Amino acid sequence: MKALRLEAWHTPAVLRDVEVPEPGPGEVLVQVAGSGACHSDLHLMHEFGAGQLPWGPPFTLGHENAGWVHTIGAGVRGLEPGQPVAVVGAWGCGTCARCRADLETYCDHPERTPAPGGGGGLGLDGGMAEYLLVPDARHLVVLPEGLDPVHAAPLTDAALTPYHAIRRSWSKLNPTSTAVVIGVGGLGHLGVQVLRATTPARVIAVDMRESSRDLARRSGADVALPPGPDLAGQVREATEGLGADVVLDFVGSDETLSAAAGMARHLADITIVGLGGGTLPVSFFSPPYEVSVQSTYWGNRHELVEVLDLASRGLLQAEVETYALEEAVTVYERLAAGTIDGRAVIVPSTFYRP
Ligand code: NAD
Ligand code: ZN
Repeated sequence: MKALRLEAWHTPAVLRDVEVPEPGPGEVLVQVAGSGACHSDLHLMHEFGAGQLPWGPPFTLGHENAGWVHTIGAGVRGLEPGQPVAVVGAWGCGTCARCRADLETYCDHPERTPAPGGGGGLGLDGGMAEYLLVPDARHLVVLPEGLDPVHAAPLTDAALTPYHAIRRSWSKLNPTSTAVVIGVGGLGHLGVQVLRATTPARVIAVDMRESSRDLARRSGADVALPPGPDLAGQVREATEGLGADVVLDFVGSDETLSAAAGMARHLADITIVGLGGGTLPVSFFSPPYEVSVQSTYWGNRHELVEVLDLASRGLLQAEVETYALEEAVTVYERLAAGTIDGRAVIVPSTFYRP
């Protein structure tokens, strides 16, 4: 089968022929319906280098995956070939306290996993191929009725990651609160929708692209602003001088983090999701008193079940552009150039036409 491979650090991905894997005991082979093209893959191709992560190339990209159960390994129960499934992406050891508490992203024994902190598409072969080998049936969630697997694919990261980040700030998102979403791409537009679907807060979105600001408004943002030197001032103006209760930064540069600190109200949460590599100085005088700053990584199985449930009821809908596997290299070039709106999803199965 064809697969989009990352073969070395600091190189773009390439299409190669690889063997179709066979599921061993406990494993499941998934026929991939859709695999989302995440900006993190660009960071992998162009920014990470040897020794920075506990794993590395070569592997097949694609960590946002959904499809159909194809072949089941010995001992797997509760799944049937043909069932539509979404893949939970972070693959921990499965037995430590964190994994038992459904926090496989923060597994206590990463050394017991083949790609610590990663999974399919992050150190292990991912979904930008016709088939994806999933090492344990617990990483699969059967799709609710009516949810198309191509549209479900980006929900496993581009919606799940904002959902996890927003969920931990739910107590601060009241009818009089304001949430700010910085960066309205794949994750950000679904972040706006998650805020809409799960909280009564006012939503301000920020992106330099006009098309992203339009997408933010379509996704439910009350206000959409371009970034600039007075972004914090504009957010304060839009909130009667109060500032933001929760800032979700899907960029994570020096510039956006400094704006986040400038717009945060006392007691706010600033959550860094983007891998922009910026830093935020923290001292007694800034950010304002009792502001919490956190980074978050992906999300977990029960949160994905909740995300899929919201989507099956029409409360979340990824804005999806679909492409064939043969187009994947150019899709990442377009993602880098900032000309993808919402999420590009690679559709590797030749028979499937959404
Ligand atoms: P994307 O390319 O689809 O979207 C990024 C958006 O940010 C674009 O619309 C772009 O115009 C906008 N943007 C860029 N610089 C900006 C600035 N200074 N101010 C305002 N807007 C700006 O990317 P994505 O796939 O949504 O990923 C976003 C980030 O989140 C990436 O860094 C990615 O690696 C990271 N990510 C983190 C996790 C996690 O678990 N923490 C998971 C997935 C992705
Ligand atoms: Zn991702």
